[in-house]
Amino acid sequence: MKDIVNSFKAEIPALSINEGYARMLCAVFVSQLDPTVEELADIKTAVSEAVTNCIVHAYKGQKDRSKKIIYIQAQYNNKQEVKITIKDKGCGIENISRAMQPLYTTDPQSERTGMGFCIMESFMDKLKVTSKVGAGTKIVMYKKIKNQENVQ
Ligand code: ATP
Ligand code: MG
Repeated sequence: MKDIVNSFKAEIPALSINEGYARMLCAVFVSQLDPTVEELADIKTAVSEAVTNCIVHAYKGQKDRSKKIIYIQAQYNNKQEVKITIKDKGCGIENISRAMQPLYTTDPQSERTGMGFCIMESFMDKLKVTSKVGAGTKIVMYKKIKNQENVQ
């Protein structure tokens, strides 16, 4: 993304208590662009889904969760295009296109519906998923904030 105006990076332990923290962190950052309530809700929901996936899937079954990290990066440019990256160093995804299909889940026992990726895709303008088994997963999401004119 060109002409970055502002950015932040955060590394947070993959604990379920941090899902809300990660979502609010991104929301407060994006709020600088004066988004509509709907735009902000879309971003919060998409971030929630991506972070929840790191917590429930990426580091599943691993001990010492406070040392398993979710890497968050967000930035926006002078066209009010927001880019949010959520990365883990967990188990990875074997077949990304299958994982992204609606209703596909590897965890049906926990009342997962397999809709996380579909939600991210529909609430953001663009979604890129890269993953390597045993190495981790990276989600990059883009959304343009259309609400206002005066960004420095
Ligand atoms: P829901 O999001 O509706 O609660 P879900 O998490 O299973 O259910 P998706 O978010 O669409 O559904 O993810 C689909 C599948 O992709 C997951 O079941 C899991 O197998 C895999 N997956 C998603 N994110 C990760 C990740 N960060 N690391 C490893 N596997 C992942
Ligand atoms: Mg999910």
